[in-house]
Amino acid sequence: MPVSTRVSLADQLRMSSAPIFGFEFFPPKDDQGVARLTRTVQHLESLAPDFVSVTYGANGSSRQRTIAATERLRETSIRTVAHLTCASQAVSELNATLDQYTAVGVDHVLAIRGDMPGGPTAPWQQHPNGLANATELVRLVKSHGDYCVGVAAFPDPHPEHRDPDLDARLLLDKVEAGAEFAISQLFFDPDSYFDLVERVRDLGCQVPIIPGIMPLTSLNQIQRFTELSGAALPAQVVERLRAAGDDAERVRHIGSRIASELAVTLLRGGAPGLQFFTQNRSTATREIFSMLLERRW
Ligand SMILES: Cc1cc2nc3c(=O)[nH]c(=O)nc-3n(C[C@H](O)[C@H](O)[C@H](O)COP(=O)(O)OP(=O)(O)OC[C@H]3O[C@@H](n4cnc5c(N)ncnc54)[C@H](O)[C@@H]3O)c2cc1C
Repeated sequence: MPVSTRVSLADQLRMSSAPIFGFEFFPPKDDQGVARLTRTVQHLESLAPDFVSVTYGANGSSRQRTIAATERLRETSIRTVAHLTCASQAVSELNATLDQYTAVGVDHVLAIRGDMPGGPTAPWQQHPNGLANATELVRLVKSHGDYCVGVAAFPDPHPEHRDPDLDARLLLDKVEAGAEFAISQLFFDPDSYFDLVERVRDLGCQVPIIPGIMPLTSLNQIQRFTELSGAALPAQVVERLRAAGDDAERVRHIGSRIASELAVTLLRGGAPGLQFFTQNRSTATREIFSMLLERRW
């Protein structure tokens, strides 16, 4: 059973008035990917993040890669949040993954439902011996050990029902089940985030919601991500990236400017921090960070 001797992310969010920063990685597929992730983590460590996290795929090999990458990150001094999804797995498999997380010293879990192979709009099918949703997963994780648990939140409505009020209510359910912080899906309109926060607060729920920031490094890539996640891609963002033409460095620079403008607006509006979806690369995230510092949010 994990016993944390350190201040948890939830404690830090409660106690600190300074924004909290985190970086999300995905588990590398091969040795080259491992080497790149190692370099990226070294580059980003100098920014003194408050946490790092590793995404989780439900099939056996990707699950083991997540656990291995999480274990490697635990070798740094950075607080590590391990993702866990309940898609396509029996409760016994979920417990086995939690045992492995515990064995490598993980005490923070992001409990998310996961999607069917067709993506978030494909009809959800509960595993016959599994769980129905993330709320049930939060309960399972909390009953397994003394973890600090986070969950997903959706500034643009989740594509399954496209119902912002349901999204707010589900976040409340997850908090009542034991979640202590939330990290949002990618989005580009700050008002989507502020609206979500307001809906959740109107339900009497004070859970900190950390906005997820996607570095924009190519128009094709960002169109793919928004299609997958159901996030809205404003025409103005597309126009600004298109204006950069085929010059990859210029596209990245304009993308970083767009992301840093969003980040500044969010922090000035009271967001408790930011999580960057790094895509296992450091250049764009570092660029956004230095633009943030220039703007002294
Ligand atoms: C920060 C972040 C990290 C992520 N990391 C990963 C990852 O590592 N691996 C991965 O595979 N995916 C990941 N995802 C994607 C995630 O799996 C999908 O967005 C998924 O569709 C929703 O997950 P959830 O935890 O919000 O699910 P839930 O909270 O269970 O909700 C999902 C949907 O189920 C329905 N639902 C749930 N409960 C109820 C209820 N009581 N009544 C009615 N309807 C209900 C609603 O339509 C709801 O929108 C991540 C998402 C985010 C935002």
